[in-house]
Amino acid sequence: MNYNQEKEVALTIVTAAAKLCQRLQESQAAQALKKADTSPVTVADFAAQAILCQGLAKAFPDDPIIGEEDASMLGKPGLEGVRSQIIEQVQQSIPSATPENVIDWINWGNGGIASRYWTLDPIDGTKGFIRGDQYAVALALVEEGELKLGILACPAFPLKNSTKGVIFLGIKGQGAVEMPLQGGTPQPIKVDQSSNFEQLYRIESVESVHSDRAVQTDLDQRLGLKYPAKQMDSLAKYGAIARGDAHLYTRVPLPQFEGKKENIWDHGPGVIIVEEAGGMVTDLDGKPLDFSLGAKLSNNRGILATNGVIHSQVLETIKQQKSS
Ligand code: AMP
Ligand code: MG
Repeated sequence: MNYNQEKEVALTIVTAAAKLCQRLQESQAAQALKKADTSPVTVADFAAQAILCQGLAKAFPDDPIIGEEDASMLGKPGLEGVRSQIIEQVQQSIPSATPENVIDWINWGNGGIASRYWTLDPIDGTKGFIRGDQYAVALALVEEGELKLGILACPAFPLKNSTKGVIFLGIKGQGAVEMPLQGGTPQPIKVDQSSNFEQLYRIESVESVHSDRAVQTDLDQRLGLKYPAKQMDSLAKYGAIARGDAHLYTRVPLPQFEGKKENIWDHGPGVIIVEEAGGMVTDLDGKPLDFSLGAKLSNNRGILATNGVIHSQVLETIKQQKSS
């Protein structure tokens, strides 16, 4: 299977959603709402999910979607204004959309696991989006538990010629590419295969509660890393590894979040891009990430993404660190 139709649809909807986010970024920063888990969400998150789900449902009506957002909070009193802003924003992209359509499209992302499904995060790194930093519109296709296509639109990601905005795309067996969000020719990308730890960069979340920095700093010392870790919000970190800007990304659960498992949409879209660029992704114990279980990577502990060359050495060092 060549996934040409999936690729075209994914590129179109991710570009539309990313442009909506760009249009809204400044105005949304001050108006973020809080979800039940206290994480922030904006008009742009909901409107982008509606656009992504509408496009997927139209092209692939039998494919369920597991998305981050859900429209139930929008029925609460006091949020009528937010609801109408979301509807208005979606109508700018899809003029025929009715208010009911928009809510239905957002909720289309409440699908369950199936032999073939999509997972998406309309804005991964909402905190970065609000701060004016990195964020990603993220989408992946999974078949029989295996990632087949991953796409990330990163509107704030700087390209080599210093223009901002890139799309990363990886398709199983076809390699990984990057292309300007504004349009342009896809260019193949490859991880940087250096293995001299003194010259390698680790990359981590900007948010210190999303990964255990004490464990990571100790790992840096054990591996002999010399440079301070790069920091970046969102799945854009996978793009950075895939294009050789960084070599190692760890996500280590903090003791206070011991049982908390990673969301499939926070990793799937980036994992296949790194793999197709020649890198490797497992959990911290070396287990493959299991995308066949549900919305969470419930069989895995944390994340390790590398340029591939250093993967087994990093895993071995993590094992020693854990037992010391
Ligand atoms: P990042 O930008 O890499 O820090 O990741 C953003 C994602 O972290 C969000 O989409 C959340 O789903 C996820 N997240 C929120 N809280 C935590 C936590 N305590 N540990 C790990 N990930 C988290
Ligand atoms: Mg996310």
